[in-house]
Amino acid sequence: MSTTNELSALGAEALLERDLAHWPMARQNYEALNDVRIRTVRFGAFRIDVQFNPARIVSSGARTDAASISQRPCFLCDANRPPEQDALPCLDDRYLLLVNPFPIFRRHYTIVERTHTPQSIAGGRMADFLELARQLSGLTLLYNGPSCGASAPDHLHFQAVTRGQMPLDTEVDSLHATLLIRSPEATLSRILGCLRPLLVIRARTAEAAEALFGRVVRALPRTSPDEEPMMNLTARYEAGEWVVIVMPRRRHRPWEPGEGILTAPGAADMGGLFISVRTEDFEATDAETLRAVYRAVCPSDEAIRALRFDK
Ligand SMILES: [Zn+2]
Repeated sequence: MSTTNELSALGAEALLERDLAHWPMARQNYEALNDVRIRTVRFGAFRIDVQFNPARIVSSGARTDAASISQRPCFLCDANRPPEQDALPCLDDRYLLLVNPFPIFRRHYTIVERTHTPQSIAGGRMADFLELARQLSGLTLLYNGPSCGASAPDHLHFQAVTRGQMPLDTEVDSLHATLLIRSPEATLSRILGCLRPLLVIRARTAEAAEALFGRVVRALPRTSPDEEPMMNLTARYEAGEWVVIVMPRRRHRPWEPGEGILTAPGAADMGGLFISVRTEDFEATDAETLRAVYRAVCPSDEAIRALRFDK
């Protein structure tokens, strides 16, 4: 796909520098990342980094039920965005790249559709997601399904973030994978035994990646026929190859707020950068807590083993 106003990781970085120069709240949140507390919990071949990030209460604590969403002004629409937040138009002006003022990553961008459209990867959005990964090679792209950690399920958005901060960015290349499908330009593999079952697409062309993704989407269960399967996605483009990780989900939150640690896992948490917004939760999040969270929000390894992929 060729588009006007092509993005680059450097162009995005220049936007970040401009924004932080005149936006004290965002600057303070980015500076706070320099001495953020992280505790690593090891599980054999993989690890989870627990990050203490109180500013993220805006996301982890956000009410995303339809009634709450309809009563708040959408913070991704032009009319309601902070005046300090600059924007880079991209993909033929259909999207805007913005600096996320509540970062988890040292570089953390939100890429929003220009119109107020529900969060969905259907209708050609996977092609957009892959093209953004190509233009922003060097960064990792994230997508949260509407009931899978997205704090604005009513306004389509992706994220682009520093690569390598999520442990899974590198672990995906070393964890044991089982090949499921091989096509001339792409493969689909599954990785089990790492708390979050993963389906991994590796492709030399965007079309081949999209075709395999379509087969994954058709194979995954849906909670209702008009909703997409629950999932988080990451994508990277490097040395002529796309790597897309599909992380199937079965719940938005592991338990109701007030019942345990406060969490609404999104792609970052699924990628092994687990966000804790309260001191008591940060201290309580050990291997057992993490197992309980992922067991509650992800399908079992057996459920993923039982998937059947059509042609
Ligand atoms: Zn909106």
